[in-house]
Amino acid sequence: MAETVLIVEDEQDVVDLLRYNLNRAGFSVSIAETGLKGLAKARAERPDVIVLDLMLPEMTGEKVCKALKEDSSTVAIPVIMLTAKDQPSDRITGFELGADDYVPKPFSPRELVLRVQALLRRLQTSQRAETIEVDSFVVDKGAFEIRLGGRRLDLTTTEFKLLTLLIERRGRTQTRETLLFDVWGYQNAIDTRTVDTHMRRLREKLGGHATRLETARGEGYRFSATTRP
Ligand code: CA
Repeated sequence: MAETVLIVEDEQDVVDLLRYNLNRAGFSVSIAETGLKGLAKARAERPDVIVLDLMLPEMTGEKVCKALKEDSSTVAIPVIMLTAKDQPSDRITGFELGADDYVPKPFSPRELVLRVQALLRRLQTSQRAETIEVDSFVVDKGAFEIRLGGRRLDLTTTEFKLLTLLIERRGRTQTRETLLFDVWGYQNAIDTRTVDTHMRRLREKLGGHATRLETARGEGYRFSATTRP
């Protein structure tokens, strides 16, 4: 069965271009021309990938993305943000909202198709991965959740990615730049305080287990390989 891409965009020429190229690459395509319709279609159709424009009538792409990532039925659907803006601040916003990739307009349709394919491959690889168990932590990548002592942690997409990566690389210090690159996908270290903010929230959510997240002063963070007595 063909994988489905939901395009949420109001500009007809962009929609036509995307539909043509995605169809040619073997994808089924579904279209929504406003933010609200996009959100409704995402929930009803559960597409494999969502291509989401930032500038939309009724509800902006940012708000749609945030709503998708807060809803457990749509959180796992990868989102590619499409936008005319290419300022670093917009890029940060896109990733902080949980967008999985970001394509500035004007874009080449061929590149966009390649990005869609790359996202799906990445997702399939991570879903194949077995669960990771470290002491009372259980990372279930397929279910997109981390359980601590049997209790499901209430994490945002970014927190999930961050904690998963730290657990996978436990015992090894990760610099803020590495985390920005691997978790947020930034090409350059834009603002490393973003990492600190997220680490603080993550610690709050880990409660008594927060000490597993160690700060290596002046270096970065690591998930300790062993439990301290
Ligand atoms: Ca638009």
